[in-house]
Amino acid sequence: MKEATYTMLDGSRKTFKYDENAPCRSCGLPVVSASMGGTDICSWCDCGVFRDGTKMDYDELTNESLRKKRAKEIVEKVKKGWMPENQQPKCDYVHCMAGMGLVGGGRCFLKGEWWNKKCPQFKRDEEITDKEIK
Ligand SMILES: [Zn+2]
Repeated sequence: MKEATYTMLDGSRKTFKYDENAPCRSCGLPVVSASMGGTDICSWCDCGVFRDGTKMDYDELTNESLRKKRAKEIVEKVKKGWMPENQQPKCDYVHCMAGMGLVGGGRCFLKGEWWNKKCPQFKRDEEITDKEIK
């Protein structure tokens, strides 16, 4: 459980407890943290973007089942190491074994966290083994 404090119209402050694992009412993924829209809508949906940073288009904004399906697909793709074209890697890809795959083909074959400055999958060339290449 987490807590979120909101300032009400009269200037008073109100704190709400919420379950960070409860599904977002917009995308269906765990809400993670409260947004300006409330404790039951994730901060990504509140800004009209999916979790990889791509903007929701008109159809995705107006069609709930399409939006939920797309949100799930993007999470699965990101888990497999794919980075969207409109994104820049934030990991240390220049020094990482999988960096050229990420910037060249858009996919980290180590299934790393390209959005994370300290990617847990980060590996220098000499550290890699064949077993780890997926
Ligand atoms: Zn959401």
